[in-house]
Amino acid sequence: MPISNEKEIQQPKILIPEIKLQSRITELAYEINHDYRGREVTAICILKGSFIFFSDVIRQFEFPMTCEFLGVSSYGNKMVSSGEVKITLDINEPLENRHVIVFEDIVDTGLTLSYIMNSLRARKPASLKSCSLLLKPECLKTEIDVDYLGFKIGKEFVVGYGIDFAGKFRGLRHIGYIEHGH
Ligand code: 5GP
Repeated sequence: MPISNEKEIQQPKILIPEIKLQSRITELAYEINHDYRGREVTAICILKGSFIFFSDVIRQFEFPMTCEFLGVSSYGNKMVSSGEVKITLDINEPLENRHVIVFEDIVDTGLTLSYIMNSLRARKPASLKSCSLLLKPECLKTEIDVDYLGFKIGKEFVVGYGIDFAGKFRGLRHIGYIEHGH
């Protein structure tokens, strides 16, 4: 729902505290380190919402890696998915024969990640996997495999830890949520 008046935006409530986030990210990095041992990886950060998650997880990787950044459009100031995906910043490096892992903040309907994975697959990487910090299983509208997942959550509209609402709250150290109707 569009928000007309800034004063109406409530302070987010805590959904996932910082300590729980960080320990799950260490577990994810451990799993990825195990699977990619001895390989060279291209890690792709989906901008903007994934930038903090991406920074925290890649610093724990033990394999050689290059980092790329892919910009996709967000919901703007709305709290529901439009289903439209627009590339706002593309990757200019070739991905052919690379082991690619895509890092996303949230999979909600799954349309964004599905679109991204299909368009990256066309660039013929040696392998292609996805890692999402959050997944809303009740909101999925397409079949999608998330290879590495931080947390399953409900239908809450979340913010913080890189994820914004109307440009706000990216700097929170935890994942918070905003109730609909505000
Ligand atoms: P999907 O295409 O899976 O519906 O949506 C994926 C994108 O929508 C995410 O990368 C994120 O930008 C945005 N999104 C989905 N759920 C939320 C949410 O709860 N809060 C915020 N701020 N963005 C969300």
